[in-house]
Amino acid sequence: GYRKGGYHAVRPGDQFAAGRYVSQRKLGWGNFSTVWLAFDVQSQRYVALKIQKSAPEFAQAALHEIEFLSEITKRDPSNCKCIIQLIDHFKHTGPNGQHICLVFEFLGDSLLKLVQYNRYKGIGFDRVKRICKSILVGLDYLHSELGIIHSDLKLENVLLISTIDPTKDPIRSGLKPDLERPEGNPNGEVGLNPIEKKLKMRARRVLAKLAEKRKSVVESSRSERSLDGIDLTCKIVDFGNACWADKQFTDFIQTRQYRAPEIILGSGYSFSVDMTEGLSLQDHLALMMELLGKMPKKIATMGTRSKEYFDRHGDLKRIRRLKLSSVERVLVDKYKISESDAREFANFLCPLLDFAPEKRPTAAECLKHPWLQYNEDKTYGPLNNNDAKNIGLAQSTGSTTSGDCTNI
Ligand code: ATP
Ligand code: MG
Ligand code: MG
Repeated sequence: GYRKGGYHAVRPGDQFAAGRYVSQRKLGWGNFSTVWLAFDVQSQRYVALKIQKSAPEFAQAALHEIEFLSEITKRDPSNCKCIIQLIDHFKHTGPNGQHICLVFEFLGDSLLKLVQYNRYKGIGFDRVKRICKSILVGLDYLHSELGIIHSDLKLENVLLISTIDPTKDPIRSGLKPDLERPEGNPNGEVGLNPIEKKLKMRARRVLAKLAEKRKSVVESSRSERSLDGIDLTCKIVDFGNACWADKQFTDFIQTRQYRAPEIILGSGYSFSVDMTEGLSLQDHLALMMELLGKMPKKIATMGTRSKEYFDRHGDLKRIRRLKLSSVERVLVDKYKISESDAREFANFLCPLLDFAPEKRPTAAECLKHPWLQYNEDKTYGPLNNNDAKNIGLAQSTGSTTSGDCTNI
C-alpha cells in the first residue's frame, strides 16, 4: 500500500519532473505501480504516468522494464508496431521514498475491460480480427526484429487506442456503464399491516423486474457507446516480465491461466510461448488435452517437471477420464458461433495451440492466414478459399519489413 517502500500518493494537480507533468486522474494500478493521466506541459499533450513503488525490488523491476521499452521505442520511430511507446522516465522523491516513474503515450481501456463491458457476450468477429492483427504485428516486431519474448500476454496487457477526451471521466460522461454502482436502498416498512406489507412486497418485485429489464436495455446501448471513439486497433503493454530470447533468467513464466504446456512441464521455451492462447497445473493440462487430444508422449515426458504430472506412458497421473471435445465443437456449442465461422476460426486457432512449440506458427505466419485477410472493401466478411489465398498473399508482404507501417 501507501507506505515506505510502497506506492506514492498522488492528488490531481501534483507536479512531476520539475513541473513538466501535472497529474489529472488515476487511470489504473497494478502490483508494482499506480498509473495516472498527466498533462505534459512541454509537448502540450496527455500522457500516462506510471509511478513505481519505491522499494529496491520495484525499482529494479522498473529499470528492467525501461531497458526493454527503450529498445522497443528506439527501433520503432514511426510508432506503428502496436507496442506502447515510452516517452520519458525520471525519479520522483516523496514521503514513501524514491519512485522511478515511466511516461507513456496515453491509451484506452484493456481488452479485459472491453470484454467485461460487453458482459462477456463476446465481441464481433470483425473487431476480433482487427485486434488479432494488431497484436500479431506487435509480436512479429518483438520476436523477429528485436528478439524479445513478452511472456505475459493476456487481455489486461493489451490496451485499446482511445480517441475519447482523456480529461472526461468515461463513466460520468456515460461512455461506459458503471458496473460497480451500488443499488438504491429499499424503503422502510413502518406502519403497514401484514396484507399491506404483502401487497407492497409483490409490487416491489414487479417493479424490480421492470427495472431490471430497463437496466439491461440501457446497459446494452451504453456498452455499444463505450466503443465510440475507439478505432480498435490496440497496443501491447507491460514489459515487466519481458526477456531476451538468448538471455532467459527464469524457467517459470506467464500468468497461470495462460501458461503454455512447455512452461508447466519445464521443457524450455522460445518465442512460441507468446503464441499460445489463454485457456483457463494437472487440471490445466487435462483441459488442454480434452480440447486438443492426447499430448504426444515425447512432449509429455520430456520436461524437468514432467514426472509431477505424467506417468512413463505419457498418461496424466491423477486424472484418468477426459471428456474429449474439439475447438470447433466448443466454439459452436459453448460460444454459439455458426458452424462455418467456427470452422474458419478453428483453422486459425488450432495451430497456435499445438503441443509442440516448434510447430506453432510465428506471428508473421499468422498474419498471412486467410482468416485475417480483408475483403476488397476493407471489411472482413466471409471469403471463399481462393479469394482468401489471393488476398492473403498479396497483403501480408509488408508486415515484416522494418520501418514499414502496415494498415490494420
Ligand atoms: P502488473 O501488476 O499488471 O504488472 P503494473 O504495476 O506493472 O501492473 P501496469 O500493468 O503497467 O502496472 O499498469 C496498470 C494499469 O494502468 C493498467 O492495467 C492500465 O489500466 C493502466 N495503464 C497502464 N498504462 C497505460 C497507458 N499507457 N494508458 C492508459 N492506461 C494505462
Ligand atoms: Mg499489467
Ligand atoms: Mg507490470
